[in-house]
Amino acid sequence: MRGKTGIWAIAAVTGMALAFGPAAVAAQDQDFSKVQIKVTKVSGNIYMLEGAGGNIAASIGEDGIVIVDDQYAPLAEKIQAALKNLGITDKPVRFVINTHYHGDHTGGNEPFANTGSTVIAQDNVRKRLESGGTAGNGGSIKMDVKPASKATLPIITFEHDVTVHLNGEDIRALHFPAGHTDGDSIIFFPKNNVVHMGDDFVRYGFPFIDVASGGSVQGMIDAMEKASAQLPADVKVIPGHGALSNLDDVRAFVKMLKETSAVVQKALDQHKTVEQMKQEKILAPWEKFSGGFINSDAFIETLYNSLTGHKGEFMKHN
Ligand SMILES: [Zn+2]
Repeated sequence: MRGKTGIWAIAAVTGMALAFGPAAVAAQDQDFSKVQIKVTKVSGNIYMLEGAGGNIAASIGEDGIVIVDDQYAPLAEKIQAALKNLGITDKPVRFVINTHYHGDHTGGNEPFANTGSTVIAQDNVRKRLESGGTAGNGGSIKMDVKPASKATLPIITFEHDVTVHLNGEDIRALHFPAGHTDGDSIIFFPKNNVVHMGDDFVRYGFPFIDVASGGSVQGMIDAMEKASAQLPADVKVIPGHGALSNLDDVRAFVKMLKETSAVVQKALDQHKTVEQMKQEKILAPWEKFSGGFINSDAFIETLYNSLTGHKGEFMKHN
């Protein structure tokens, strides 16, 4: 969990690079000194920060700063500097809300906690950070997760939802079970009309669904549909990874998830093996989503395991 030995460095089975996003590079090979933090004003007093790892949302105002996710530990000082450079407040980051436990979203927890921030997350985020374990799609994507340091662990946890009342806004984190992981939260900024979707919504192509950590495609679809239903049509959507988006982008993503799930379900009903599904390239119509991190074959495995309830070690039994 500490920077260059971050959990996403480990790609036990395939050896593929397992940092996220289009420029996927293993964390240990990543030179964080070259990473620059790009700050975009989203709406009102909400900003989006991009560097390496998951997107950060920041509420910056008279009461101080609340951020959603914190990328990697070696970037914490740069993130702090980028927030300060906006010249809006000298007050500190008072709260960090984690959307889920993965190291590219929680890697900065320790340095932020050490400089006075309180980390908040859903119960399962703390549990999985504390225990460590295995993350993956139940197939070729598998990563060992080391138990996190004590300072990385969220101090305040919640089961269903929590609200942080700062900067004149009711910043609400709402848990959606069994999507990207079993500890996902979507964060709503209702006054500013912004939402941070965590990794239930990403722009790098087929999503990583961590079925080994309780994720499922059904839960991801469910989360996106339920969240979208309670959002205004013109809400600004911060994805877990990728460019600032809108609800049309979310709908296109959900449509792809539903269509690809239906195709794999149909193949399952015909008693096809995962190897046959790959050979027949049943996801060819969605080739544009096949990326460096999750390609079509890895997404077939993901959907197969998600729809059949396999949680891991699938490849060994095949
Ligand atoms: Zn993630």
